[in-house]
Amino acid sequence: MDLSKVTNSELLVRLEKLVRTERKITHLILCHINEVEARRLYAELGFDSMFKYLTKHLGYGEDSAYRRLQAARVLKQVPTVAEKLEEGSLNLTQLTQVQKCIKQEIKLGNKVDIHQTTQILEEIQNKSSFETQKYLAQEFNLPIQIHEVIKPQQDNSVRLEITFTEDQMKTLQQAKDLLSHVLPDGNWAELITLLAEKHIQKEMGKISNQRIKPPKRIIEANELEKSETKNFNNADIRELKLSNHSDALLGITGSLTSTHSFLAQRKRKNLKVTLKRALLKKANQRCEYTHPQSGKKCESTYQLQIDHLIPLAVGGLDTSGNLRVLCRAHNLHAAQRWGLLAIKDGNGTRT
Ligand SMILES: [Zn+2]
Repeated sequence: MDLSKVTNSELLVRLEKLVRTERKITHLILCHINEVEARRLYAELGFDSMFKYLTKHLGYGEDSAYRRLQAARVLKQVPTVAEKLEEGSLNLTQLTQVQKCIKQEIKLGNKVDIHQTTQILEEIQNKSSFETQKYLAQEFNLPIQIHEVIKPQQDNSVRLEITFTEDQMKTLQQAKDLLSHVLPDGNWAELITLLAEKHIQKEMGKISNQRIKPPKRIIEANELEKSETKNFNNADIRELKLSNHSDALLGITGSLTSTHSFLAQRKRKNLKVTLKRALLKKANQRCEYTHPQSGKKCESTYQLQIDHLIPLAVGGLDTSGNLRVLCRAHNLHAAQRWGLLAIKDGNGTRT
């Protein structure tokens, strides 16, 4: 199937239709799972559980099989969940989270009736799995775990489970957002390690003149910091790649006319730190992209950059009216619209 010739709008229509079909099929699969399980047909086929049948015979991965089984149980208790599943306001992960809590309650000797389950399902509609978990934790009064778990694993890695307070988590999340340029695929382990390495480097520098060789990503982070200005505070780290990035965009002017090429060669001056700060503050440290038709706002905090509404390459100015805060994806999207960037694949690779 060659999709490269399909128009953008047609492609989106097709995908939306396929997703609707997938949800319908998911609902049907859950119904069939319930019926096969009720008749214990898996036993006849030589499996000791529905889970084994789903994984060993039907080829589901363990996670996928588990989620379908849990969701099927919720569906059995509350048949109206089918509608929500098909319209997409509830998904398999959420139903699994709900079923886990119900099972836990029953284990504790408490009853969860259909009305309570229905109400819970109403409440978690259109919520992310993080928000769903938060709601369920409060609703079911789940115990707060504070003990730390450190488990060594066979490859010498360590599994660490820690509890953070709400404020501590906010601080960590803020650091993660600020460092998203340095750690684009950053997970929590990478973030914590980077912060620790930076601290060690700072402390070691204080007590000894002996040069220790910092890990590669610290060098990168430090060079990025230097490349902008020495007076930057943490809030500006998120913009560190901005000027390099935009200059790179300005370099891609093959499709522009000669006048534009001339303008594109104008030397880009770094924006004033105060102006950048003001722009970030005005944007509430979030991407300002809004879909022109639906009004959907992006609000991402990931890899924020300052974007020129009218690019420098076509005569735009460094004035606050011409500047806005965008995430990396929307900065690339804007550049693409101005013909400053050719998209070769879905990842927005520069060509
Ligand atoms: Zn965005």
